[in-house]
Amino acid sequence: MGRTTATMPLRPTIYQMHRATAMIMLSSPPIPRGSRFVDAIHPVPVATTVKAASTKAMEAAFRSLLEFNPRTMDEIMGITNIYRRLGSPVELFLNWASVIAEGVTSNTHWALAFSDGMRAINAVLEFQLVPGDEVIVSKPLYGCTDNYFAGLAPRRGYTVKAVDLTDPQMILSALSPKTRIIYFETVTNPNLRVYDLETISRLAKGEDPNIMLVTDNTFPSPAGCNPLLHGADMVVHSMTKALGGFSQEMGGVAIVPKDKWMELFLHRKDTGGVIAPEQAHAVLTRGLPSLYTRFMGMQANAKAVAEYLDRSPYIASVSYPGVDNSPYSENARRLLTDWDGQFAPGFMIAFVPAGRDSRNRVGNARRMIDYIARHGEGVIKHAVSLGGVSSLIEMPFLGTHATVSNDDKIRWGVDKAMIRFSVGLAHSGDQIALLEDAIKYAYGA
Ligand code: PLP
Repeated sequence: MGRTTATMPLRPTIYQMHRATAMIMLSSPPIPRGSRFVDAIHPVPVATTVKAASTKAMEAAFRSLLEFNPRTMDEIMGITNIYRRLGSPVELFLNWASVIAEGVTSNTHWALAFSDGMRAINAVLEFQLVPGDEVIVSKPLYGCTDNYFAGLAPRRGYTVKAVDLTDPQMILSALSPKTRIIYFETVTNPNLRVYDLETISRLAKGEDPNIMLVTDNTFPSPAGCNPLLHGADMVVHSMTKALGGFSQEMGGVAIVPKDKWMELFLHRKDTGGVIAPEQAHAVLTRGLPSLYTRFMGMQANAKAVAEYLDRSPYIASVSYPGVDNSPYSENARRLLTDWDGQFAPGFMIAFVPAGRDSRNRVGNARRMIDYIARHGEGVIKHAVSLGGVSSLIEMPFLGTHATVSNDDKIRWGVDKAMIRFSVGLAHSGDQIALLEDAIKYAYGA
C-alpha cells in the first residue's frame, strides 16, 4: 500500500469554539517551539523574580514599559514577566480567558487581574479619573463599593452623582461636560435590579462618546451576562465569587478596551494589587474550566428555589429575574444570556419574608436565618460572599450592606428584612426542604 499524504484538519480558532471549551483549552499551556512535551496544566511560578539572558533582553523589557504600546501577546508577556508585581505567565492566560469569557476577543479588549475585586474596582476608576471629574453611579452597590463612592471618592476630588438609571430624563440631566464614568452593577447587589444598559449607553455616548460605562458583572458572572456586547466599555469582576467558584480564592479582574490596557497596567505597576500566581493558577485551571457547568447547575437550583419561594404564603416578595415581573426583569430578559444564547436568570435570589409590619418581617427573617445557621450547615451556610458551589445566605441590611447609610438602603430598595441567597450545587430538593423547615420555625407553622 502506498503512503498517503495526511493533511492536518483545519482546527477552529479559540474564538470559534464554545466558550466552555475555550476555558478548558486555556488551562493548558501550548507546547513551546522546539519542545516535545510540556506540563498538561500551567505550572505555578514560585519565584518573585525572573532571570534575563542578557542586558539587551532586560533593557528591551524595560524599554517597552516606557514605549507604552505592546501589540501582541508576546510583547505583553515581555513586560509582565520581569518581576512578579508586574505579572506572570499564568496571569496572562487568566487575562486572556477573562476576555473570552466576556464574549469579546483580544483584537478589541484585554484584561488585567488583581488581588481582589475591590482592588480591580478602585484601579479601573482611578486610572481614568482626575480631581474635578464627575462619576454617575446607580445604586444599590455592593457595600464596600458604596463606601468608596460615599467616602473616598470625594476626598480624591471626584464628584459622585447617584442617579436612578431607570429614568432617561434623570440620566440626561445628570450628564455634564465633566462626566467621565457611569458606574453600576449589571445585576445589583443585593436586590437584583437590572438596568437598561443599551439605553444608558446610547444616552451617554450621544452626549459624549468618551464617557466610559463601567459595570461590575460579579452577580451574573460572565456565564450569564456580557455587558461589553450591550454597550459597556469596561467590566470588572470579583473573581472571589463565581469565577473562583469554590470559596478558596481571592481575585479581581478588569476587562478594558485594548487601547486603555497599558495605562491600567502601569497604574497597577505603581500602586500594587497584582493577583498572586497561586490564586491566578487556581482560577485559571479549576474555576474557569468548571464555570459554565457550575453556573448551569446553580441556576437550575436557583430557578427551583425561586419558584418555591414565590409560591410560599410566608414570603412577601421574591427578586429573581426568572419569576418576578418588574421592569428590571424586562431588562434582564434582554441582557442576561448564557453562552448558548438562552435567557440566564442566574444563581442569586433576594426575598423578603412576610409579616404584619417591618419589625415583624425582620424578626421572621432573623429566625429563618438563625435556624439555617444552626441546622443548615453544609446544605446552606449563613455567610457573606456568593457564586460558589456552597449555598450562602445572609441579611444584607445587617451584613454585606451594614455600612451603607440606612436612607440609601431604603431609597434603593434594600428592605430591612431582605434575605440574599446565593444558590449553590446542593440538590434543590434538600435546599427547599431546609428553607421549608426554616419557615416553619420562623412562623411557628
Ligand atoms: N462587587 C460585588 C458585586 C461584590 O459582591 C463584591 C464582594 O462581595 C465585590 C465587588 C468585592 O470583591 P472582593 O471581595 O473580591 O474584593
